[in-house]
Amino acid sequence: MHMRLGRIGGVVSAIALAATMTACGSSTKTVDAEASSSAAAGNAGALIGVTMPTKSSERWIHDGDNVKKQLEQLGYKVDLQYAENDIPTQANQIENQITKGAKLLIIASIDGTAITSQLQQAADAKIPVIAYDRLIRNSPNVDYYATFDNFKVGVQQASSLLKGLGVDDGKKGPFNVELFGGSPDDNNATFFWNGAMSILQPKIDDGTLVIKSGQTDFKQAAILRWDPATAQKRMEDIITKTYTGSTKVDGVLSPYDGLSIGILSALKSSGYGKPYPIVTGQDAELQSVKSIISDEQYSTIFKDTRKLAEQTVKMADAVLKGGQPEVNNTKDYENGNKVVPSYLLDPVIVDKSNYKDVIIGGNYYTEDQLK
Ligand code: BGC
Repeated sequence: MHMRLGRIGGVVSAIALAATMTACGSSTKTVDAEASSSAAAGNAGALIGVTMPTKSSERWIHDGDNVKKQLEQLGYKVDLQYAENDIPTQANQIENQITKGAKLLIIASIDGTAITSQLQQAADAKIPVIAYDRLIRNSPNVDYYATFDNFKVGVQQASSLLKGLGVDDGKKGPFNVELFGGSPDDNNATFFWNGAMSILQPKIDDGTLVIKSGQTDFKQAAILRWDPATAQKRMEDIITKTYTGSTKVDGVLSPYDGLSIGILSALKSSGYGKPYPIVTGQDAELQSVKSIISDEQYSTIFKDTRKLAEQTVKMADAVLKGGQPEVNNTKDYENGNKVVPSYLLDPVIVDKSNYKDVIIGGNYYTEDQLK
């Protein structure tokens, strides 16, 4: 796929120009090849800065480990940092990586709008940037984006909620459902929400689903920094205010396993037991897969972090060798400044019916880990 990539294009053409000057009379193709091989030679064994949001959620630990391992296998050096969801810490880590001479940055941002000046520093030093899983917003200095199809994640969460409620089998409800959204500063959160609402809104409109709390806006449902305790508190408040007498919660749209654990705790402490309301999730975190096996959480969305790491590492390697990485989406991820060329992977719904095939069969967890 061909596209003009402002800054990388600029770096490559500068190298190409230098090559032209030393290789007078060569065809453009030869010059490009020389440019690539000189970039490749220059960046062999280069330092790559990788920043991840937090270790408090297991998925990012897998992501960091996988990216580091795969980059090291290609001979690169890696500086991997976690920021415990603190924005200034992440900004400092990126600045340090630039100072240490990183030749490329891979960033899973905490707040997608908060690192514009660090990215400008990277651009000034001609360091390409790959946004990892979460889009970095409001900056022209994001070269590529590797992620899962985030809208589809939301569609899958909502479809699984309907399946769990029995709507697919013809049950008409009305079902009492509550909605949770992700962190409002994470670009993914609105994609998940919009994907989910594309499926749920028609069912709200036809009366199959009732949002008893009346909290139907993303702003009301969003949980800052994806914090499980905040989700637990919101669920407790909703139960206390709305679910009085014999009115019961039938289902909860939860966009992330950590929130689902908080939501289930709130339900438990309010007297709910098996069969629990249908609670969705995301990330196939170990505790949540166990919870699915023991009939508490209903489902999760499995996003294979090994594959995301693989795709990102391929992108990084191509960029560092002066080439063009493979992308499969050049329209959906507008970051407020430009459309960032992206590679989207496919998420998979996991519930009790398929976890053995997908999770154990796919060697994500062993059977023993799930005991
Ligand atoms: C990721 C999700 C994750 C959430 C909370 C999102 O940006 O795409 O996989 O559940 O952050 O960590």
